Formats: sequence, C-alpha cells, structure tokens
Amino acid sequence: MEPGNYLSESMMAAAFASDAILSVLLIFLWLTQRKEKHALFWGMGQIAIMIGVMTWFVGAKFLPHQIRLFICALMLTAGMVGYWGGTQYFLGDLRRRHLRGILIAAAALTGIFYLLWNAYYDLVAPATASISGAVMLWMGVRLVQAQQRYRWLGYTLIARGLFNIVSSITLTPELYLVWFAGTSLLKTLSMLGLIYSVQDEIQQRYARTIDSLSHGFLIRDRRGYVHVANERCASLLGFDSPSDLVGKHVCELLPDLTPAIADAYFQRFEAKGVQYPLTETATFKLHNGVKLPVEMMGSPYIERGRLYCLIQLIDISERKKKDDMLYRAARIDPVTGFFNRHALSVSLAQEVAGAAAAGRECAVLFLDLDKFKRVNDSFGHAIGDELLRQTAHRLYGVLRPDDVLARFGGDEFIVVMPDLAPGTAEQMATECAERVIGAIANRFDLSHHAIALSASVGVACYPLHGSDSDMLIRNADIAMYEAKKAGRGELRFFNDAMNAAAKEALVIDGALRGAIEAGEFTLLYQPIVDARTGKPAKVEALLRWHSAALGWVAPDRFIPVAEDSGMIVAIGTWVLNEACRQVARWRDGPLGGLTISINVSAWQLADPAFVGLVEQALASNGLDGHRLELELTERVLIDDGGQVRAVLRRLRALGVSMSLDDFGTGYSSLSYLTRFQLNTLKIDRAFVMDIEHSERSNSLVNAIIAMGHSLGLRLVAEGVETAGQAAILETMGCHYLQGYYLSRPIAPDELLRFAGARRLSAS
Ligand code: C2E
Ligand code: MG
Ligand code: MG
Repeated sequence: MEPGNYLSESMMAAAFASDAILSVLLIFLWLTQRKEKHALFWGMGQIAIMIGVMTWFVGAKFLPHQIRLFICALMLTAGMVGYWGGTQYFLGDLRRRHLRGILIAAAALTGIFYLLWNAYYDLVAPATASISGAVMLWMGVRLVQAQQRYRWLGYTLIARGLFNIVSSITLTPELYLVWFAGTSLLKTLSMLGLIYSVQDEIQQRYARTIDSLSHGFLIRDRRGYVHVANERCASLLGFDSPSDLVGKHVCELLPDLTPAIADAYFQRFEAKGVQYPLTETATFKLHNGVKLPVEMMGSPYIERGRLYCLIQLIDISERKKKDDMLYRAARIDPVTGFFNRHALSVSLAQEVAGAAAAGRECAVLFLDLDKFKRVNDSFGHAIGDELLRQTAHRLYGVLRPDDVLARFGGDEFIVVMPDLAPGTAEQMATECAERVIGAIANRFDLSHHAIALSASVGVACYPLHGSDSDMLIRNADIAMYEAKKAGRGELRFFNDAMNAAAKEALVIDGALRGAIEAGEFTLLYQPIVDARTGKPAKVEALLRWHSAALGWVAPDRFIPVAEDSGMIVAIGTWVLNEACRQVARWRDGPLGGLTISINVSAWQLADPAFVGLVEQALASNGLDGHRLELELTERVLIDDGGQVRAVLRRLRALGVSMSLDDFGTGYSSLSYLTRFQLNTLKIDRAFVMDIEHSERSNSLVNAIIAMGHSLGLRLVAEGVETAGQAAILETMGCHYLQGYYLSRPIAPDELLRFAGARRLSAS
C-alpha cells in the first residue's frame, strides 16, 4: 500500500500524533512511579509499531530499500516484544532471567522478518498487521483469562487483534478509509484501556496497602460521611466489605453513636494547638451486639483545602483482657476469688469517706481461723487452700449483699459492713460476727477429711474505734488478737485498753530484742519442798528481766510478747542452759541431787531442735536426765497433732520428767494426764489461795489430789502463802509445796543458805 492523497496523509498524521501522545502518556506513567514497567513496555511497543509504520509509509521517499525493510522488521519485533513483555509483566510473569532469551528471540525475529520481506515484498504490510494483530489477540485472551478486573480491556484487545488480522487478509484499497477508522478507533480504545489499567493498578496498590494494615482505617468528612475504609475496618465494625462503609454516615456504623458525639469528635480536629494523633480508647457497641474495645487514633487530613479526619482503629480486646487480668491479679485473691488486702484497703477507705460524708457508721470484722496452720501442716497446702476457699464461700453466704469480703492474708479474713445507721454499728457487727462464727463452726468436708474449725473475730467500728481505714483494720486486728487469747470462736470489740496493751507489747517487743546478748536476763529459783519433811526436793527456775530501757519487767508481761514474736525459743534455750549450768554448780553441796524445774512454752516444744538442745544442755553440764523437769501448760497439749507426744516420748527416754503447770485454770482435761504420761501435777495458786476459807476450793483441791493419787501422779501445790494452807495440803496428801510461805523465788546463793537452814531445821 503506497501513501495516499493529501487527506489520507493528514489523517495518518493525526493518527500518529494520537499514538504518540498515548504512548508518551504510558511512558510518563512509568516515569512517575518507576514501578509500572508494563506501562514502559506498552508505550515503547506502541512507539515502535508507530515508527515501523511511519518508516514504511513515509520512508519510501528518502530511505534506501534495504534499510527501510530492516527498520520495519526491527520495529515490528520491538513492538511485539513491547506488547508481549508489558502484558507478561502486568500479569506478573516476566522475570529478569527471561531477558537473554527475549533478546535472542527478538534478534532472530528481526532477521526472519527482514529475510521474509526481502523475498516477499508485498507481504510487509499484511504480515505486519496480522502479526501485531496476533499479539493483540494473545494479549486480550491472556487478560480476559487472568484478570477479571481488566476483562473489558481484554475484549478490546481481542477486537483490535481480530480486526487487524481480518483486515490484513481482506483489505482492498477501496476499504482503506474504513480500515483506517476502525483500526484507529480500536487502537485508541485499547491504549486508553492500557492507560486506565496502569492508573488502576497504582490505585489498587494504595487500596491493598490500606487493606493490608492490621489496623482499621477510615476517612470521614466534616458531616460524618465515610470516604475511605479498609477491609480491617469493615471486619472490626461487623461489615462484610469496605464498600458497605463508604458513603455511609458514621452514625449508621455504630448504633450508640449520635450525630452530636460524631460532630464533637470532628470539631476537636478544628481546634488549634492540638497534638496529633488524638489517641483514646473506647468500647464500641456494634450492630451485632458485640462490644469491641478499641483504641482510636485520629489525625486531620486535608484534601483540596477541605478538612477530613483520618481514624485508625485498633482492636484492643487482647490488651484489655490482659489489663483486666492484671487488674484482677492486683485486686483479687487467687485462692478465694475475693478481694485481697490491697483492694480491701481501697474499698474500706472509700466506705469510711462515704460514711463520714453521710454521717453514717461502718464496721470492720477481723476474722482469723483458729489452728489453721495445723491443717496446712498436717494435710498439705492444697487442702489448706480448699479450706480457705470453702471458708470464704461460707462467709460470703452469711453476709448482706453490700458487705465486702476480703482475704487479708494467710487465714485472716476481713468483712466490711458499710453504710450503717448511726448508733447501730456495734449491734449489726455483733449479729454478723455471730453468723460468721456459726458458719465456720460447722464441719468442713475436704476430700475425705472432716475438719472442725473455729474462728476468732475482732471488731472495730467507724467512727467509734477509728477514724480511718488503717486504724480500723489495726484495731479490729488487736481485738481479734484478744478474742484469740480468750479461746476459740470468741468475739471481741476493740477498746482503748487493748490499744494500750498492744502498744505496751510493741515497746516490750522492741526492748526484748538483744536482751540475751546484753545479759539482761537472770534466773531466780523457788524451792519446791517435800510437804512432810519440809526439805527442798526441787527448784523452779523463774526468769527475771531487767531491761536497760524499761527497768524490771515481770514475766507475765514479757513472756506473752516473746511467745508472740517467737523470741521465746531463744530465751527458753538460754533458760535451759543457764538452769542446767546452775544445777551442775550445786552438785557438791546441800543442793546436790536436787531436780530443777523449768517452764517450757508451746513454741519451744514445736521447735524440731528442742530435744537436741535439752540433750546438749544436760551433756555439757554432766547432768543426768532425771535432774531436769519440764513444766508444760495445758495449752501446749491441747494443740497437739501428735508431734508433742512424740517429743515428750523422746524427752522421757532421756530421763526428763514432765509436770503440768497451773492445773485447774485451763481445760483441766483428765485425758491429757493419761495421754501424755505426765509425772507431776501443779495445782494452780488460784485454788490454793482460798483453801482455808472456801469450801468449794477446798473440796476441789481435795478432789484434784485424790485424782492425782489414783493416776499415780506427784502433786505440787503452787502459791502456798500460809502455814494453814501448808497444813491442809499436807493432810490432803499433797506431795510438794511451793510458795512464799516457804520461800520467794531467790538467787542461787540465797537458795544455798535456805537449803542449809532447812537441812538444819529438818534434822
Ligand atoms: P508459773 O510457772 O506458774 O510460776 C509460778 C509463779 O508464781 C511465779 O511467778 C512465782 O513467782 C509465783 N509465785 C510462787 N509462789 C507464790 C506465792 O506464794 N504467792 C504468789 N502470789 N505468787 C507466787 P513469776 O516468776 O512472775 O512467773 C510468772 C509466770 O511466768 C510463770 O508462772 C511462768 O508461766 C512464766 N515463766 C517464768 N519463767 C519462765 C521461763 O523461764 N520460761 C517460760 N516459758 N515461762 C516462764
Ligand atoms: Mg511454772
Ligand atoms: Mg504455775
């Protein structure tokens, strides 16, 4: 086909111009992003085809024939490679490693075309048209198959390809104009399609980037309409796709959101001097009823002078769960599931503040399980924990709905009764404490063990017994301690005397520390004489403390404190050693052969080292076990779970004898006397005191002595102050007497004189 007339030349020029513009546009798109290499390929491909066609039509005038053929062959190849390569790249199928093959193929194709056209000159135009048509056809089919999104571009390319092929075969000069119009139209359409696809890919990339964000992402305008949203945002808010959100008002997305709130949120971005992003947490209620805790990060975003708001939504359900867990861990006791100490303090402080403001009262019940430690020691901690759990639930069961229950620590529980009417706190607390004590008194069934427990309860009321939460807890604790001292299952209200006692105990406790090292302790010895002969048979070692800070402090005051702190173990060891040393010193005198009696507290017996200490004290002073007697109180025996009996057995094996001190003041259970195989019973001073004047005391002592005899026990009467008492006790058959009538507790040298005098008087 040779160049036509003026009209066809100008039409062709217009077609070339439009080709050039569209191709350059494609190349320009590549230049802006440098990622859309398919645009470069397509653009270059089209330009190559254009140059080929131009060379063919225009070059005839001034180019040598061979060169013209060669350029046409080269450009056809370049066009094919451009379109083919661009499409492959677009579909993700072009790799760098293909490059060599492509170049070789292109060179070969160029050669083939050149040779072909040299031989068949007439074929240049139809072959070019049909070959490029075939490439278009292939492109179209590939696109339709692989990319649903660009199927229309695919169809257009198929149409362009088919048109080219068909027209290359059937074209006659008469139809030239029709062909030209058709091919130009299809070419322009397909190139616009290519440009669109490049643009669309760029946009898609942004959309995919936004969609792949793990955060929800949303852009809304001032009125509240959503312009952009990503997949994550849709799924967070319970919608299927972002398109369900775009165009909707934010109030349509969240049922609880009102236009006023949505407006107010936006207005914050219009304010000056605000730091972005605005981060806050909220809990969204979604359409499906689900509650979603989110963190919202809002930033302003300006497009064409208009303010938008860009919101990122982060699902913080997991974080919130963890926070809740931490909150629980900080406030909830893991064993019982009720408040812990910290939460209790906070809650009580609030209740006290509330009561103060409203002129109301409240009560704090401090509860401690009696002998809980023994359950733990005997059955293990798992059962101990189960017991605490059951206790907590029983307690909870007897409380009013507003009462607060907490595990304060160990086996201690606290009940706060808030908001009580003025003047009623003590009455209400008494009723509650009785319910609590009653609830604990029922047996607990713990995996095959039935355990009987009791609880001691101390009460402090606001405002009577304390003005703040710490003071109330402390005073309830002091009252509980007093309840405990009174026995099991008791209730005590705090009073100021308790406070004074508690304060004194604190002072004594402080002064006791270091007292052994400072040599502040001494022992006095009180003789225990044979009731018939009046000769000293034993001496009781009695501890004396002269504190550098407090002066003389009586044992009744400091021994309970030492027992509470556990210091009694060290003090008792000192007494044991000192007493044994003293007896050893008396060996060759009037006191030789005397038995020494020392007081031993429950703590010492529970100390696993105790028997060893006794053994050592005897051995290091060269004493026989028979020279030592230990005075125990019923309290020691009552708590026994079997250990005490074992310890006593080992002590007996050393020859050490045991006496029961202060008999008659405690539980006075006969079973102890037999069960623990005691040797001696010491009748408490309280009975001896009235023996001369009180019929009751007289017959009681008589009965104790008779009973002692029948059990084969030796009897000591304590606190004998008069000759009359001594005479009565002697006739009753009491074996030994101890008391001021015979001697006060005295220092060792005085005791020597006493013994010497007795021996003289007795002989
Ligand atoms: P306890 O073992 O019953 O000791 C007898 C207490 O009665 C002694 O009081 C003694 O001085 C006092 N006493 C003796 N005869 C008479 C009397 O005729 N009239 C009066 N009114 N009192 C008399 P003390 O020395 O004050 O000891 C008090 C308690 O302290 C002892 O009672 C004992 O339970 C405890 N204690 C003393 N020394 C020790 C010790 O070394 N270790 C332990 N664990 N407790 C000790
Ligand atoms: Mg004693
Ligand atoms: Mg006594």
